[in-house]
Amino acid sequence: MTTETGKSRLVEDMKAHSGQDPNHCYQCAKCSAACPVSAALDLMPHQVIRYLQLGLEKELLECKTPWVCASCFTCAARCPRDIDLARMMEGIRLSVLRKRGENKFGPAKLTPEQLEKLPQQALVSGFRKYNK
Ligand code: SF4
Ligand code: SF4
Repeated sequence: MTTETGKSRLVEDMKAHSGQDPNHCYQCAKCSAACPVSAALDLMPHQVIRYLQLGLEKELLECKTPWVCASCFTCAARCPRDIDLARMMEGIRLSVLRKRGENKFGPAKLTPEQLEKLPQQALVSGFRKYNK
């Protein structure tokens, strides 16, 4: 879906949530080279930014990378353009969840046994990451 000016609504929402502008990226890929979970990603971090620049909404909605991202901020520390890619990933997650109108994970999706056994820190972290 696009805005009245023809821009991707998902990308505009991501910018509003994160305060980051993907157009500041010049695609050096230092973020991807430093990412500790790159082997588990279906799109490298710099490719996610390229998709944002191009407004490829459908591909971003299907992409696993923002959900696998560990929010470790290594990419942000390495970026020569001072882009906070970890915040951008969070902005994508929020935008996708709001577009879908549903949460990915919450107490209702867990059994009482899981709620009792899983560490509180993991639960709070998961609820924060997968809920709008
Ligand atoms: S390190 Fe920064 S400028 Fe380079 S590709 Fe990643 S986000 Fe873009
Ligand atoms: S914040 Fe996410 S994308 Fe950036 S280096 Fe860490 S795991 Fe990779």
